[in-house]
Amino acid sequence: MFYDMPLYRPPSEGDNLIIQATLGCSYNQCSFCSMYKSKSYRERPLEAVFADIAEAARAWPDASRVFLADGDALGLPTEHLLAIAGRLAAAFPGLTRISAYGTPINLRRKTPEELGRLRAARLSLLYLGIESGSSEVLKRIAKGVTADAIADAIAKARAAGMKVSATVVLGVGGKALAEDHAAATAQLVNRAPPNYLSTLQLRLAADVADGFLARWEDGFVPQGDAGMLAEQRLMLERLDPPSPVIFRSNHASNCLALAGTLPKDRSRLLAEVGGAATSGERLRPRWLRQL
Ligand code: SF4
Repeated sequence: MFYDMPLYRPPSEGDNLIIQATLGCSYNQCSFCSMYKSKSYRERPLEAVFADIAEAARAWPDASRVFLADGDALGLPTEHLLAIAGRLAAAFPGLTRISAYGTPINLRRKTPEELGRLRAARLSLLYLGIESGSSEVLKRIAKGVTADAIADAIAKARAAGMKVSATVVLGVGGKALAEDHAAATAQLVNRAPPNYLSTLQLRLAADVADGFLARWEDGFVPQGDAGMLAEQRLMLERLDPPSPVIFRSNHASNCLALAGTLPKDRSRLLAEVGGAATSGERLRPRWLRQL
């Protein structure tokens, strides 16, 4: 199988087949993100994708879940995505789910009718980096969308019957915008709940650090563990989604691993954050934290 490196996938896709439908990220401008800085965005020709699918089907005919890489395969034209989904369904008789990274920008470009057709073709899970619900933070990190646009994107995917797994970056507002970041993110999730919500902690790679910091004319003061936990606590205190949200902070970048369902498990999660903040108990050793 041909993979153009680097290749990223969500932790939950670790056991699933990965097919690269696109290379890189069509946006590639978020100031904190170095994932695809080494790649120019391009759509892989259908023939190349079909060849990978055929090869994978020979090696793993029982595959039931397929993740379409790279950064935002949802940005492909709908007919192109439908052709890939059709080929996957034909190659894998037990196919139950196709998933992909999306961005709020390319999700909003799809019409409800297009999303409905993609859902019918088994594209049923989208991973969406929302990063923050704070307009000021979104501007500083050059996310290219407002909180309203993110809420609209989540609601649109869910209205089409797709599941949304959203990611928030703790610490991305630094000390100065920490409260706004946590409170506004909770507000956004309450307004447009995804099915899954997870946190990462900000870690700036060397190749993007200068560009990230340059957008903070007044200086960026990074959060330590205490600040990260305070953000986590404020966000959890304010999270009261109208439908259940499965919450995880088990990504290796987090200083504290949490797992529960909101709003049901909020008290327990808050107690765990409080315990870690006061005693340091259960904090992940620094050498185990990575992206
Ligand atoms: S965070 Fe997502 S949308 Fe932004 S540059 Fe990175 S991969 Fe692209």
